Amino acid sequence: MPKLGIRGQKLELTSVYKAGPCYCYRRRLRQTSKQQEGSQSTNVEFAKPRAGRRNAAVALGLEPGPHGSCGESDVPALVCGCCVVWCHRRNSRNWHDQQVTHKNTMPSIAVVGAGVVGLTTATLLQDALPGTPVTLLADKFLQDTTSDGAAGIYRPGLQFQGPSPEVTRRWLEDSYKYFKDILHSGEPEVTGVKTVSGFHFSSQYSNIVFNPFLKMILEEYRPCTQDELDFYGYKYGTFMTTILTECRRFLPYLTEKFKSRGGVVLERRLQSLEELAGDFDVACNCSGFGARDLCGDLSVTPIRGQVFKVRAPWVKHFYYVDYDTYILPGFDLLTLGGTRQFDSYSSEVCRHDAAAIWERCTQVLPSLRNGEVVRQWVGWRPYRPSVRVERETMTFPSKKTLEVVHNYGHGGYGVMTAPGTSINAVKLVVDYLASRKAKL
Ligand SMILES: Cc1cc2nc3c(=O)[nH]c(=O)nc-3n(C[C@H](O)[C@H](O)[C@H](O)COP(=O)(O)OP(=O)(O)OC[C@H]3O[C@@H](n4cnc5c(N)ncnc54)[C@H](O)[C@@H]3O)c2cc1C
Repeated sequence: MPKLGIRGQKLELTSVYKAGPCYCYRRRLRQTSKQQEGSQSTNVEFAKPRAGRRNAAVALGLEPGPHGSCGESDVPALVCGCCVVWCHRRNSRNWHDQQVTHKNTMPSIAVVGAGVVGLTTATLLQDALPGTPVTLLADKFLQDTTSDGAAGIYRPGLQFQGPSPEVTRRWLEDSYKYFKDILHSGEPEVTGVKTVSGFHFSSQYSNIVFNPFLKMILEEYRPCTQDELDFYGYKYGTFMTTILTECRRFLPYLTEKFKSRGGVVLERRLQSLEELAGDFDVACNCSGFGARDLCGDLSVTPIRGQVFKVRAPWVKHFYYVDYDTYILPGFDLLTLGGTRQFDSYSSEVCRHDAAAIWERCTQVLPSLRNGEVVRQWVGWRPYRPSVRVERETMTFPSKKTLEVVHNYGHGGYGVMTAPGTSINAVKLVVDYLASRKAKL
């Protein structure tokens, strides 16, 4: 992963480069000419990309590759993460090398955080603002994030709160639709998104097995039959089919999507959001638990969760039972949990928690004893009484200012609700940029 200072990168990019075709353009024009078959408007010969240009991009720490987010102006002098500068003459039969200077008038956007919330926000920004350079900064990626260990089931608890019931509902509905769209596109093995059916049982409380959010959103959500309750030995229960998003696949899928469309990824720990002031027009703060320090937001509290990851491919359904006991089948492994320890800052596996989880889960499904324990994991759910999605003009002691759109505090529900809150956050960015443009 390239480690670049943001300022350094900007300086470099204002240099003059030999321009030429970029993969993105070549790809896009191919599509266009296919769409317009028979018409004479687009007929382009595609030159092979030049190794020199590619190397120049690599030297800058940028990764060349196909993307689809460049503008289509006649004399583009844009910079994206996959090519340096390119020039294109419409209706020409050839690409022309030409000296152009980078004069990027596009706003530049930073996203802080490479967990599920940051990556979802970053890719949705690319959808909403094609061609706008988006830079993702984080100190932890993929398997080092909290998102990686989450089971990723879409089953919002009633503690999941936005600023109002209407907003909460919209986030949940938008998220479900987002995942359903991914499901319908196929490739669950690549995206990590699949459907899963299962039970929520209780021997103690009838109301705890009923979830109004799920009743409202899921296509299949019903009380258990008496046969099902007798078979498993519980008094109350519901059966449902929902969506599970496994971040071990979903994060690489989003990262690839982001990079392939020109997104730049930087490994960097921020001590303060002030470090972005002056370099970016707007920053999306998707730092999860990190927001506690980055924004001094003491309402962000860890809810410690410990789980087993177990190989037991014969288990196909999920089970939620009393005392925070759950068994959730992912693609290759089950997640067995759990604990929900409020304001607990231990990130070590606790053997007492492990013993209790194992005992409770094997009581539900005795066959788990034959499963292979692959690993144990501890994560902190970044809880906040209300998830924070809002815009703020931050002013720092140096008097610098930065426009920030916050998107953090998803607690135990960040995988399933990342799309809904991120759609909201992206709208705040788009509205801000539009209002700024209107003032100019
Ligand atoms: C045991 C357990 C089970 C769970 N199960 C589920 C589930 O079934 N379904 C569900 O929806 N959710 C579940 N969750 C919750 C889910 O994991 C979180 O809500 C989600 O991962 C939060 O995502 P995030 O992107 O906000 O945070 P993270 O994944 O923690 O990512 C934060 C990012 O911000 C970066 N960052 C932070 N501070 C800085 C800084 N100063 N400088 C640079 N970068 C910074 C980090 O490096 C990281 O890249 C579970 C959580 C746990 C612990």
